[in-house]
Amino acid sequence: MPTSAQFSSHAGERAYPGIAAAGGVVHARVLVIGHGPAELPERELDASEVPGELDRFQRALMETREELHAVQRQVSSAMGAKEAEIFETQLLVLDDPTLLDEVNRGIAERRRNAEAAFHEVAGKYADALAAVDDDYLRERAADVRDVAHRVLNNLMGVASASDLSRLTEPVIVVAPDLSPSTTAVLDRTKVLGFATDGGGQTSHTAIMARKLRIPAVVGLWQATRHVRSGEYALLDGHSGTLILNPTDATLFQYGQIRERRAAFEQRLRDLREQPAVTFDGSKIILAANIDDPADAAAVKEAGAEGVGLFRTEFLFLKSSEAPDEEAQFAAYREAAAALAPAGVVIRTLDLGGDKLPAEDAHREENPFLGWRAIRISLDRPAQFKQQLRAILRASAHGNVKLMYPMISSLDELLAANALLDECRQELRSAGVPFDEQMEVGMMIEVPSAALIAPLLAPHVKFFSFGTNDLTQYTIAVDRMNERVAHLHQVSHPGVLRLMQMTIEAAREHGCWVGVCGEAAGDPAVIPLFVGLGVQELSATPAVVPAAKFLVRRLKVDEARAMTAEAIRTGTAKGAYERSLALARQVAPELFPT
Ligand code: PEP
Ligand code: MG
Repeated sequence: MPTSAQFSSHAGERAYPGIAAAGGVVHARVLVIGHGPAELPERELDASEVPGELDRFQRALMETREELHAVQRQVSSAMGAKEAEIFETQLLVLDDPTLLDEVNRGIAERRRNAEAAFHEVAGKYADALAAVDDDYLRERAADVRDVAHRVLNNLMGVASASDLSRLTEPVIVVAPDLSPSTTAVLDRTKVLGFATDGGGQTSHTAIMARKLRIPAVVGLWQATRHVRSGEYALLDGHSGTLILNPTDATLFQYGQIRERRAAFEQRLRDLREQPAVTFDGSKIILAANIDDPADAAAVKEAGAEGVGLFRTEFLFLKSSEAPDEEAQFAAYREAAAALAPAGVVIRTLDLGGDKLPAEDAHREENPFLGWRAIRISLDRPAQFKQQLRAILRASAHGNVKLMYPMISSLDELLAANALLDECRQELRSAGVPFDEQMEVGMMIEVPSAALIAPLLAPHVKFFSFGTNDLTQYTIAVDRMNERVAHLHQVSHPGVLRLMQMTIEAAREHGCWVGVCGEAAGDPAVIPLFVGLGVQELSATPAVVPAAKFLVRRLKVDEARAMTAEAIRTGTAKGAYERSLALARQVAPELFPT
């Protein structure tokens, strides 16, 4: 079991092993964000310091209020006013006269510094609430703790996630975790790398890092507890290691690795205009995943054929105002027109799970099993129809396909299609052009959908495997949880069997099938997908060239035979090793030792 314990230490160098999330090596100062009270400073004040300390406390309260108001606005526009209400309780905590009096007395009378005085009183309040036999009050304990965390960060001058958009020098960010809303607004020129305590390869922090081409290591357990802002670190996103205070010898070694990688990347760039055809002549569409129309340039640059997944939720997470139908139409049209005649698969909103407007916006016990994606859309038909109309209208400007996320039943698919039909009718009546033949498909990311694929297939034109979620839901392993990250294996025969069944159903009904989860860009498992018979692979643009390099060297027959044998091994490890062995045999350059 991994721990955050360092695995090497010489001449002050400390190395922390984690999970490789996005390739690349960077060297810079560390900025730790979101420290908890573990680092709390405690001291006795001089009488002369008391007024200044009381002032400092007032300022921290004010900053926290402003922060909460900003988060509340963001949540309200992305998820609705009701969801934003949870911040009211936190704001009330900041104005609670009994609590504030007690802290002020702690500073003025007991001469405790503001951090210690506040931490003690807030902790007492939270513990008292947590002990009450009432669900509502118990939940308020979490509010007190959250808000206390923010106040303490402001008191200690610890950077908060929102500071990432206004950095003045290049840094490697070390944090417990980073929400998609944070990564969406960070300053790309200043954040050279990420390292997070939590997460696995398919958590959205990792996905965003790959998309932004920011080297990242996740699943470092408690690294934030051992690392201080201002220390120098080398972050190796290939092996998944964070090295604090690297020695000259380490820096030299990494310099050489970087040079070798740069030379191979030039070879990959030369493949840009080449088609993704297997060695024995089967065409595989190698598409890219995007979350913003501006990514179209990166899609072309990577030599990808269109977009296999446009994650539209990021348009909602990025801005403080939810985009209306016109704004959405403009974004979808821009992507479609930029990439035509190549296809652009636009997925309807997949908010929920870990894609929340703010770190703590949503209070569900199990958000991945909760109000997410198509469930939110079907509960809000007016908002959903705005998006459907925007996508339909964009279809007049390119090769647009529409895809629903998280479908788990035939009812959901039929309900979504019925709303889509209403939209078509409305546009026809208004004389607004759209593509009558626009393909409609759905993600296969919930096992129940794979199991009823023969019933779903007549109502769609394509299926796309969301292997991040399909793996999570099939094996019951949280894609965000570093403790079980090693169990999140798409090569689990259970996952492969579900894929196999789905592909059979698709074939019978003339549907095409793709993969758009992170695994689609992982050379170690691509042979399994080719062997299963998928026709499209869609991954973040940064990894498309390597995927193409591999696809062009695979033979479908060999991949098919390997996959049948891999499933028969009965284990995720056995299947993975077989797939990796085939990939390594045909493209050893992708697996440098
Ligand atoms: C998936 O689940 O594999 C997928 C592509 O969707 P997301 O990562 O956005 O949940
Ligand atoms: Mg998913």
